[in-house]
Amino acid sequence: MSTVPMKPRLRIATTSLAGCFGCHMSFLDIDEHFFELAELVEFDRSPLTDIKHCGPCDIGLIEGGVCNAENVHVLREFRAHCKTLVAVGACAINGGLPAQRNHLDLDACLREVYASREGMQTPGVPNDPELPLLLDKVHPIHEIVRVDYFIPGCPPSGEAIWKFLSDLIAGRTPRLYRELLRFD
Ligand code: SF4
Repeated sequence: MSTVPMKPRLRIATTSLAGCFGCHMSFLDIDEHFFELAELVEFDRSPLTDIKHCGPCDIGLIEGGVCNAENVHVLREFRAHCKTLVAVGACAINGGLPAQRNHLDLDACLREVYASREGMQTPGVPNDPELPLLLDKVHPIHEIVRVDYFIPGCPPSGEAIWKFLSDLIAGRTPRLYRELLRFD
C-alpha cells in the first residue's frame, strides 16, 4: 500500500531588532491559533526557541528598526535565509518610536544619559567591544534589505498577524481588510 508523503512544514523565524517586543506579544495574542500554527510550521530562530542563528526558512518576521551594527548583521542574515521577509509593526516599517532620536545629536544623547546624570556610579559612555556600535540614525528595515510584505500597526493586532500568516501559509497572497489595518 502506498502512502501519501507528508507535506514538509514551513519554517518560520522571528526576531526583534530595535523594538519593544510588543509585536511579538501581539503574535502570542493569536491565542488558540497557535495550536493550528504548530501543526503547519516549525520555528527556527525566534524568542520562542533557543536557536541563535537563522537557518534556511520560508518566512522571516522582523520586529523593530535598525539602530546598531548587530541589527544590520541579524537583518542581513534573515534576508539571506528567508524566502519571504515581513516587516511587522511601525518600528520595522518606519523606525517607529526608537527613530524619535533621529532628531537629536547621538553624542549629546549618550552624554546626557551616561556621563552627566547624577547617581551614576561610573559616569562615562560605555565603550566595551562587546557592545554593538550604534548607528547615527535608526533606519526602517527596507533601507537595508529588500522586504516582501509590511504589516502596519504599533503593534498590529494578533488577528491581523494570524490572517496574514494563514494566507501566506496557505499559498494565498496575504490580504488584510480595512478593519485589520492599524496605523497607530
Ligand atoms: Fe513595540 Fe510598537 Fe515597535 Fe512593535 S511597532 S516593536 S509594539 S514600539
